Amino acid sequence: MKLPAFDYAAPATMAEAIELLERHGGDARPLAGGQSLMPVLAFRLAQPSMLVDIGRIPGLDSIEIGEDGVRLGARVRWCDILEHPSLRSVHPLLVEAIGHVAHYPIRNRGTVGGSLAHADPAAEMPGIAFTCEATMVIAGRAGTRMVAARDFFTGPLETVIGPAELLVEVRLPPWPAARRWGFEEFARQRGAFALAAVAAFYDERDGVAIGVHLGVIGATGVVQRLPGAEAALEGRPVDAPGIAAAVAAARAEVDPPEDAEASSAYRRSLVGTMVERALAAATAR
Ligand SMILES: Cc1cc2nc3c(=O)[nH]c(=O)nc-3n(C[C@H](O)[C@H](O)[C@H](O)COP(=O)(O)OP(=O)(O)OC[C@H]3O[C@@H](n4cnc5c(N)ncnc54)[C@H](O)[C@@H]3O)c2cc1C
Repeated sequence: MKLPAFDYAAPATMAEAIELLERHGGDARPLAGGQSLMPVLAFRLAQPSMLVDIGRIPGLDSIEIGEDGVRLGARVRWCDILEHPSLRSVHPLLVEAIGHVAHYPIRNRGTVGGSLAHADPAAEMPGIAFTCEATMVIAGRAGTRMVAARDFFTGPLETVIGPAELLVEVRLPPWPAARRWGFEEFARQRGAFALAAVAAFYDERDGVAIGVHLGVIGATGVVQRLPGAEAALEGRPVDAPGIAAAVAAARAEVDPPEDAEASSAYRRSLVGTMVERALAAATAR
């Protein structure tokens, strides 16, 4: 399908980009890699009059690793994460999950910021940011503000980013080296969006799980954690009865939508299976 007509600007600074967005009210859209925005335009799901290309703004493509965790600039691409020399050892869950995103051409252009701003509940990055309790850094005319991931996503394809704001960075908290983790995804084809994926992690103390985090991607209409399943496992050994309790709680607490891809019951069952596999992988690591 042909794209609708739009004006295009490629500002060289953040201030210029924000000024352009502000001047066009809600009628301008930032453009990162175009991997979600172009299909949105082609299907006429949005018809902005102006695209503000953020590709020339310096400082948005850095990956910083420090004592306070990992900072990913909004324009970091999937291939930058996958090819980074030390990120896998610093944050293995992130890199494992991003390994499930799409195919090479899309990974070569698609960005962290574009994915978070697009807020597709079937996309890996929003799920990881939510499960890991990341912080988003959003820039506007008044400066930057920090928003916790739990407050950032307001619904499917919706976030708190204002029409004259840009997401500039996501900060993932420090990841202890001994942390146990698993990421399991089921998709119809390699690289397709997940029918269901689960990110799991916990720390182990005296043989029991502490700080259990279980996040679901794809199976539900929003990014979400599984508080019932987390509670079922918290303070318990991650053995067969512990995993079975978490699986049962997970299946009971999700309410997947029915669509052309899968029934609600199938997705609910898949969530349990992904929880089981992710926890089994965590115990094996
Ligand atoms: C065939 C195909 C398969 C795919 N499979 C997967 C998959 O399996 N898993 C997955 O996670 N993703 C998948 N994707 C999406 C892909 O990961 C994109 O990278 C991602 O959706 C974001 O695209 P982008 O970075 O190019 O952002 P764009 O498309 O440029 O922008 C997306 C949205 O975010 C806004 N935006 C962009 N940057 C910013 C910013 N810094 N601040 C504020 N708003 C911003 C734009 O205005 C737009 O609304 C797939 C895409 C395609 C085309």
